[in-house]
Amino acid sequence: MKDKKIKIGIFSLTSCEGCENIISTKPRELLKAIEGVELVEYKFLEDEPMKWEPFDIAFVEGSTITRENLEVAKKARQYAKIFVTLGNCAQFGGIHKMKNYRGKERLMAEIYKYPETIENPEIMDMEDVVKVDYNIPTCPINPEEFLRIAYDLINGRRPTIAQRTVCYECQRRGYECLLMKGEPCMGPITLGGCNAVCLKSKMPCEACRGPYEGANFESHFKLIDKMVGKVRREEILEIFGVKDKIIKTRKQKNKKTK
Ligand code: SF4
Ligand code: SF4
Ligand code: SF4
Repeated sequence: MKDKKIKIGIFSLTSCEGCENIISTKPRELLKAIEGVELVEYKFLEDEPMKWEPFDIAFVEGSTITRENLEVAKKARQYAKIFVTLGNCAQFGGIHKMKNYRGKERLMAEIYKYPETIENPEIMDMEDVVKVDYNIPTCPINPEEFLRIAYDLINGRRPTIAQRTVCYECQRRGYECLLMKGEPCMGPITLGGCNAVCLKSKMPCEACRGPYEGANFESHFKLIDKMVGKVRREEILEIFGVKDKIIKTRKQKNKKTK
């Protein structure tokens, strides 16, 4: 990939655009990262409509809430060699997925006068919509992690994320353990890489980066259920839409250990 201009598209589906904002707050680093790169789509820099033709890397932010979102995700997949999700919304459906859990028809009827005119699809993990090559997790993304992964991809390397829990990063930084104080923290089952940023502000981890595959889900959930009950435990995992992925990962893990 090194000797030719790499074509990159940064797409925004339904989202708060916080992840794209994070990228735009690092203009110098981004410019360094994109030296020799052609941006085929990035609405923060231009508003020309995307010309759909083959390109190298698609970074996709946001959830597929509308038909148009679905179309953009599928087209980005079709035309890009590499498809990368940008942030929790894109990877897991994010906060929007809450409507799946709370009864999406009922919620629409409560919010809109004419709910039948509003598209109301089930919110899905991006991996259930299109084939995803890499994820850049977290709500919002960590700019350093974005740049590291973008550099690797631009230079033809396979980016990896260190496989460890949020607890590892929390304890290395010497933060007080909230779980030990009886707060339902999801750090032990969550993939690290966010530098335990919530724990820095004494907020328990709500698992926005998704499951750490090596976690002991059974024992952690037993402990959390004892503290706050299963219903609350599930509610916590619903905040960032990671409940489904955790159920899937837990099932796969249980199958392997049988
Ligand atoms: S992951 Fe968070 S910051 Fe990023 S677009 Fe979604 S809600 Fe916004
Ligand atoms: S506060 Fe949470 S993330 Fe930190 S060590 Fe305790 S359980 Fe792990
Ligand atoms: S501590 Fe947990 S909720 Fe907070 S950013 Fe990290 S993974 Fe997300």
